[in-house]
Amino acid sequence: MSTLQFDQNMLGFNADVVIIGAGMAGLMATRRLVHEGVNVITLEARDRAGGRMGGGTFNGESYDLGAQWIDPHASAVRTLVHELGLPLTNQYHEGESSIGIRSRKTSFGKRSPFFAPHVALDYRRVLHLLDAMSRRLDAPTDETLERARQIDMRSFAAWLSDTCRTRTTVQLLTVLTRIHFHAEPSEISLYYIIDQVSAHRGAAQLFRLRPAHGQERVVGGSSRIAERLSQQYRQQIIADTPILAMRQDEHSVTAYSRGTSFRARYAIVTTPPVVTQQIYFEPHLPPARDALQQRIIMGRALTMVVFYDYPFWRENGKSGIVIDDAGPFSMCHDVSPVNANEGALACIISAEAAHRWGMQPRNERLTAVITQLQRWFGAEALAYRGMIERDWNAERWNRGANGFLAPGAASYIHNVATPVGRVHWAGSETATHWTNTLEGAIESGERAAAEVMVELGSAGLLRTK
Ligand SMILES: Cc1cc2nc3c(=O)[nH]c(=O)nc-3n(C[C@H](O)[C@H](O)[C@H](O)COP(=O)(O)OP(=O)(O)OC[C@H]3O[C@@H](n4cnc5c(N)ncnc54)[C@H](O)[C@@H]3O)c2cc1C
Repeated sequence: MSTLQFDQNMLGFNADVVIIGAGMAGLMATRRLVHEGVNVITLEARDRAGGRMGGGTFNGESYDLGAQWIDPHASAVRTLVHELGLPLTNQYHEGESSIGIRSRKTSFGKRSPFFAPHVALDYRRVLHLLDAMSRRLDAPTDETLERARQIDMRSFAAWLSDTCRTRTTVQLLTVLTRIHFHAEPSEISLYYIIDQVSAHRGAAQLFRLRPAHGQERVVGGSSRIAERLSQQYRQQIIADTPILAMRQDEHSVTAYSRGTSFRARYAIVTTPPVVTQQIYFEPHLPPARDALQQRIIMGRALTMVVFYDYPFWRENGKSGIVIDDAGPFSMCHDVSPVNANEGALACIISAEAAHRWGMQPRNERLTAVITQLQRWFGAEALAYRGMIERDWNAERWNRGANGFLAPGAASYIHNVATPVGRVHWAGSETATHWTNTLEGAIESGERAAAEVMVELGSAGLLRTK
């Protein structure tokens, strides 16, 4: 059944469910509900679907500037990509990769980086402590809740400084935090880190020394996932439709855009919580929800892809993978096309550096990144042919890379996915597993779709397909 077809049950309604946002979460909620025969309208502010799966083109090739890696554990993303018939390519990691911490370079290949034994031992000890703390907090007793409150008073930086036995371990975990959370350890609650340790199946997964290892990318960019899905659901998705206000009563929820409105029985809002704050709700959201949305802060990321005639680093026995605490970028990796007819390095500037470099003129930022690439790859890095970039903090419709919690916020976010009346919540920030990843976004979209199905079913409104 097409969404906008006339249906006697739908008098006065545009759809059963209105979905706000066509990122991965909104697309997956759309897919699930359409599959179940539910009338859906999905409203997207941008002129394209995909949200934080987004990229740019250079020389006729598409490159990711947002989400790109598909982790070996990301089974839902893999299944989706397979169903959409999209080819995957392994992240190139042949040859020598490097980590620069406190001006010291450590190179590594197929095995983990070889740090001095006391650093390696300390790093493993710290991860072990994080795993142990996460196991203790998993059982919600009165004692663990009190302990969680105490842990939440501290920043991850304060804990690292008290716990690590070497300055190199502190700095190593600092740069790995920037890469994963796009935030400084001083900004993040220790509690949130521990929560994320269990959401990502252990500290070793969260703070990987070889984050690129085992990752795959969609050939042509992850925005092809969004393109395929928006093609399949073109009857449901309406682009260029920013929702500015939402009103709900006991029978319906209405989403208002510029000069138009959409009335449905239920809504699924998939926007990052801080972006949801831009929507005017009537009645006003309950204080608990409002407080929660104020506290999920967006990390900062600016992605720059630099182009060369060919991936010259490969000929010099290098993988193109660098982790560097000196900045501007915290990490770069090889994103050359599969046929390697040009060389491309994706440089991710994260956290405070993204804030600082985002304010500089484009040319100065590029010069700083090229100088950093020269340090790692030699003078050939100076002969770049072009660059594309995206500052995710400058994007109105996500206002940053991904959500995190500052110290003191933990008790506000327990109900991150609890519906408010007819409004249900999705988005990668609401996922309980693989939070802030494509896998988490899929989980959240499917969970919210299932919630709405239950509501429609209890009201006797589920139609047969
Ligand atoms: C630089 C970067 C690198 C990343 N790398 C990876 C990676 O390698 N692997 C991985 O798994 N994940 C990665 N991620 C995370 C991943 O991109 C996100 O977790 C995921 O895409 C979030 O999907 P979502 O649907 O929850 O949110 P979004 O993608 O933000 O979707 C929300 C949608 O809502 C729309 N919207 C906002 N406001 C309104 C409104 N008022 N009305 C209508 N529509 C609105 C937005 O335009 C957007 O399309 C990365 C993210 C960034 C920024």
